[in-house]
Amino acid sequence: MNRVPKRPAGGKRLGAGKEVGPTEIVVESRRLFEGRVLKLRVDKVRLEGGVEATREVVEHPGAVAVVAVDEQGQVVLVRQYRHPVGRPLDELPAGKLEPGEDPLLAAQRELEEETGLLAGAWRQVGDFFTAPGFADERMRLYLAQDLRPGRINPDEDEELQTFRLNLRDAARAAAEGRFQDAKTIAGLLLADRLLGEAGR
Ligand SMILES: [Mg+2]
Repeated sequence: MNRVPKRPAGGKRLGAGKEVGPTEIVVESRRLFEGRVLKLRVDKVRLEGGVEATREVVEHPGAVAVVAVDEQGQVVLVRQYRHPVGRPLDELPAGKLEPGEDPLLAAQRELEEETGLLAGAWRQVGDFFTAPGFADERMRLYLAQDLRPGRINPDEDEELQTFRLNLRDAARAAAEGRFQDAKTIAGLLLADRLLGEAGR
């Protein structure tokens, strides 16, 4: 039987489009929390074999991250304290989508707000779920080039230090496990591969 699984919030299904593989049917759904950014619900689901299970789900509006690379081949990173993990992390500029916001416009907004940079060339290079075990957060990843100064304007609740690293060196550091943020690891490796294929 070909049952259609619940689609991820905020978009079409990822992947080639064919409904294949196991699915789960939602039997019962309870909303436990509705916050400024996140919602939490608990679903009771029935697996194909008939077993029932409980799924705790964080609903997220979706997000964008930007690999911004300058003329010298340097990538722009931000260091910021991350309260949930209790330490500062080095990350790509990134942020959540506003309700109904186009992801590319969100990426352009976040890059300028967090780093004070505008970019003349944009290209989507990734589209992935960040934590599908418990959250529906979908992230679009962009490569931004042809950088020029704009106006820095971080959110009131964000304290950021921006810095630049050679993309090649940053990708090598990512491959060696020296970054701890998943989108940053993915973005550095992808961008290095794409730009390497294009020019090195
Ligand atoms: Mg941010």
